[in-house]
Amino acid sequence: MFTPRRKSESAPVQEGLPAGLIDLLKVVDAEYIILTRFDVVQENSQGILALGIIRDMRIASQPIINLVRAVRRSGKYEEETLELPRGPLGSGTHELLVRVAPIGSDGSIVILVFDDSEFARLNSMRRDFVANISHELKTPIGALLILAEAVLEASDDPAAIKKFASRMQIEAVRLSELVQEVINLSRLQDEDPLQDAEVLDVAVIARAAIDECRLSADKRKIEIVIADTPSCFVLGDRSQLHMAISNLIQNAINYSPESTRVGVAVTCTDDLVEFTVTDQGVGIPDKDLERIFERFYRVDPARSRETGGTGLGLSIVKHVASNHGGDISVWSLEGQGSTFTLRLPRAKDLSSLSNESGR
Ligand code: ADP
Repeated sequence: MFTPRRKSESAPVQEGLPAGLIDLLKVVDAEYIILTRFDVVQENSQGILALGIIRDMRIASQPIINLVRAVRRSGKYEEETLELPRGPLGSGTHELLVRVAPIGSDGSIVILVFDDSEFARLNSMRRDFVANISHELKTPIGALLILAEAVLEASDDPAAIKKFASRMQIEAVRLSELVQEVINLSRLQDEDPLQDAEVLDVAVIARAAIDECRLSADKRKIEIVIADTPSCFVLGDRSQLHMAISNLIQNAINYSPESTRVGVAVTCTDDLVEFTVTDQGVGIPDKDLERIFERFYRVDPARSRETGGTGLGLSIVKHVASNHGGDISVWSLEGQGSTFTLRLPRAKDLSSLSNESGR
């Protein structure tokens, strides 16, 4: 049944502005400002305040003031993409599409602001990723080409062929690991684990990951010690959490000297489940701590290459954490060791639904 709209439901119409304008602006997917003919802010959406464009009822951003002036001069609609600072500190910017148009009969102006920052951020991430991955692929592919040539030239020297072939095998394994990690990372960026989440016990996942890493730890006489761990439940995606936890344990092994210990613990507080892995390894210099979660960032590229690292492990962990509404942090002292802590929101009162408890 059609119900006529009561007058009080609609926003008040300013004199000289077209009727229904504010109602219309409210349903447009943009922030808005309406200026009087004296450039005083007459109306604005709530969200515009966070962008820092208005101060003392006036426009505070010079590029937008210029755009308004241009519209006043021409009497015509204008638009521009602007990069405005996010705040007084740092280099963060908002990427905004700003559209300005004259409206009404009294010299009012409407400014529509579309925040394209997220779109711009994703685009630049994609560009960086393509550039990085091309660079990373070049190394093993280049090595394979050189080794293939060497094999051809050594056709009458079986010992040399054997040596080059085994190097080729190493490079091919590296290449396939890299491709697998890229696939993992791109899946993580596309999938939302909470849409189809299971109740999972982090302690069970941690023990399974330790079992997998045991062989490479034994080879280097590294002992993995797991603290007495209670069941700690989270809602999430099993394979993503397994991947994150394995990456952290494998790194602890890779960046530790022989005959040391790696400690693993799972604890829960009221709201959080914390997985920590501590090693007695090389540690990470302060200046690198912020950057190690970036894709392909390595403190010591030569060492990472030696251990077969792809440079993607920690960015995968970071993605898994944020996909689950958690975070990852690190404490480290160069030459002493590191502790990585993965925190996830605890699934409370759901343990009875879990299918992990019997395992
Ligand atoms: P990689 O494949 O190179 O190990 P990651 O993304 O997993 O890539 O880690 C990024 C960098 O962070 C590593 O190259 C290494 O320099 C540093 N790092 C990660 N974990 C540890 C650790 N447990 N101890 C010392 N350095 C670490």
